[in-house]
Amino acid sequence: KEDKLICPGCGAGIQTQDPEKPGYVPPAALNREIVVCMRCFRLQHYNEVQEIPLRNTDFTNQLHDLAKEDALIVKIVDAFDIEGSWIPGFQRYIGRNDVLLLVNKMDLLPKSINENRLKDWIRREAKEQGLKPADIMLMSAEKKQSVEKAAAKMDELRHGKDVYITGCTNVGKSTFINALIEAFSGDEEQRITASGYPGTTLDLIDIPLDDGRSMYDTPGIINERQMAHYVSRSDLKTLTPSREIKPRIYQLEEKQTLFIGGLARMDFNEGSRNSFVMYVDNDLLIHRTKLDNADTLYENQKGEMLSPPGRETLDEMPAFAEHTFHIKQPKMDIVISGLGWITVVEPDAVVTVYAPKGTGVTIREAVI
Ligand code: GDP
Repeated sequence: KEDKLICPGCGAGIQTQDPEKPGYVPPAALNREIVVCMRCFRLQHYNEVQEIPLRNTDFTNQLHDLAKEDALIVKIVDAFDIEGSWIPGFQRYIGRNDVLLLVNKMDLLPKSINENRLKDWIRREAKEQGLKPADIMLMSAEKKQSVEKAAAKMDELRHGKDVYITGCTNVGKSTFINALIEAFSGDEEQRITASGYPGTTLDLIDIPLDDGRSMYDTPGIINERQMAHYVSRSDLKTLTPSREIKPRIYQLEEKQTLFIGGLARMDFNEGSRNSFVMYVDNDLLIHRTKLDNADTLYENQKGEMLSPPGRETLDEMPAFAEHTFHIKQPKMDIVISGLGWITVVEPDAVVTVYAPKGTGVTIREAVI
């Protein structure tokens, strides 16, 4: 297995059989001095991401091996999309190893957030997933906030063992590892998308640590509840916030509807006058209308006023699926995985949310 080729960009085993699977290179490309898989090659040269179907089955094979290691497992989650950050059955795959939970993209949440409350909520959510983290840290890999603090916590909790960095796609795993490499080697040239590290028996990327131990990057798993998987690349850019979200408040009477571009719709079916606080990208259009007009408006305006998706990418998005919530308590969040959430302020409301079929839509106690 030693001489098996590993893509230095993503850690997948190089193969020439199936272009649909990770690690594919055209046979001719095997002669290159450094063999990079087609996906990473395109990423480097054309900035274009190819969808690779890396499903649970592929990934859990690799996770299984983690249970056999004696290591610290770092699990990265996306603060803006906790729902879309979990890996089902994760604790089982990693055995008795300690887990450090790193909550990334904190820069997107309003500064007013109560960090202790957020941590408590994440701890409860983790527990529901069967996961009991040794510690939870909040950070922003992109803004390089608390990255070194997270690294220090990693060093403290690993007790001289190896470290495995795990996470779903889009949570910022690569950004975090690059930030670590930059912080500790001071060398931007070493970024993992650009240069190679020796592969290991687990098909993982191996980053040497000071004491002869290693930090391993593992391939990202796809959590199919993220809206990211149901919209085009260009629409994904539009719906993903890049700076602190400014909450937008709407006072609605029953039988009113809000559209979030053409990506989601919320109907206030029943209840007395209520406030709805929208936590979505600041540039996304929020359009209010009467429930009675909503269907017609959507038919006439989707891809036009109600965008993204735009005219060209409308067909790529699955049709809306409907999720109805009977809300009894005050201050509840309806979360649309990857798009954001809506806080329903007053209790006793019946609300229906529409989102592209497949996207996770759930309810929780408000975090802000
Ligand atoms: P990976 O799939 O887990 O490796 O995720 P990437 O590192 O490729 O990041 C996914 C997306 O999230 C990219 O668009 C990043 O720019 C963005 N991202 C990563 N870290 C942060 C962060 O701390 N804050 C914000 N706002 N965006 C981030």
